Amino acid sequence: MKIPFLDLHRQNLQHKQEYMKAFESFVDSGWYILGKGVERFEETLGNYVGIRNVIGVGNGLDALSLILRGYLELGKLQEGDEVIVPANTYIATVLSISENKLKPIFVEPDVNTFNLNPAEVERNITSRTKAILTVHLYGQVSGMDKLIDIAKRNDLLLIEDNAQAIGALCNGKQTGSLGDAAAFSFYPGKNLGALGDGGAVITDDEDLTKVIKAVRNYGSEKKYHNAYKGVNSRLDEVQAAILNVKLKYLDKENELRRKIAQRYRTEIKNKSIILPQCISEESHVWHLFVIRCDKRQKLIDYLNEKGIGNMIHYPVAPHQQEAYVEYNHLSLPITEQLHREVLSLPMYPLLTNVEVDYIIENINNFEY
Ligand SMILES: *Cc1c(COP(=O)(O)O)cnc(C)c1O
Repeated sequence: MKIPFLDLHRQNLQHKQEYMKAFESFVDSGWYILGKGVERFEETLGNYVGIRNVIGVGNGLDALSLILRGYLELGKLQEGDEVIVPANTYIATVLSISENKLKPIFVEPDVNTFNLNPAEVERNITSRTKAILTVHLYGQVSGMDKLIDIAKRNDLLLIEDNAQAIGALCNGKQTGSLGDAAAFSFYPGKNLGALGDGGAVITDDEDLTKVIKAVRNYGSEKKYHNAYKGVNSRLDEVQAAILNVKLKYLDKENELRRKIAQRYRTEIKNKSIILPQCISEESHVWHLFVIRCDKRQKLIDYLNEKGIGNMIHYPVAPHQQEAYVEYNHLSLPITEQLHREVLSLPMYPLLTNVEVDYIIENINNFEY
């Protein structure tokens, strides 16, 4: 048997006819940038998340970056301010901070949930700390109750990188509605994936919304009048048309992911493998199913031999990247351990029971 790590073709084939219909009405609309499709998606996503203001942008990195840029324009952040970020996040989170001439403060995660450890967050707050940029990594809500409390007590902005956890709930509320602003990504492999790049900013803050709406469109509120030195980062109409189709199926697909995760978590029994912890059913949408193994390379070789797709998220920690030489000296032992041990197993809604059986059986037979 051969099981790909991710099968986007299988995933998208089921909606192909609806996509084609949506594409046809896009072509017929005669309006190709920031048109009816983007407007409808912004409204529907806002209703889904429970927040009124949604701004469709070019991708998830831009969504993060525009939030920080917006706060800089509003004077709520200043160049050089410190932004707390989980040290084990995907590089994009960190890029959004450095791109805006802010300073990332890398904070160690909890080794079991992979998400920010609130005690470590508190320990790293200084007089220059102005924001916490938390990440709901691998699809699980990062302990928001404590982070909200820390942000309140220390007068910090709380921003969610929700690229991986759309649909996850915290006390019945959607991720992306829990802090001051949130960034979403619709990269094809995400739980709500387009057929190209896409992203969104979601916030209740009217001032921030106004600035970001202008900055994503050259910095102009009125055509050819520029209030800001803006960028061009708009959600594409074609991607919005696709997303309008896919959002309808998101909850159902996340439910299928949960079923697969449930099977992995109860049926994988191998002393050399540490399974991921999940704080509650609703808090996780299993963007990735990430296990740990201290003989990871042996496990990878074994899975490859069995035809079971696998990937490392992520092989190199941001502070150890070549692009961030200024942080290469930092020592973050938990983060570094995770980067040595984590491995992601196939996880997508259309994985069949037979495939899941095969994966579980083979992992249970792994020995080193
Ligand atoms: C995917 C991702 C991003 C970036 O989104 P893009 O749409 O690829 O730019 C940011 N943060 C996290 C945690 C991600 O997984």
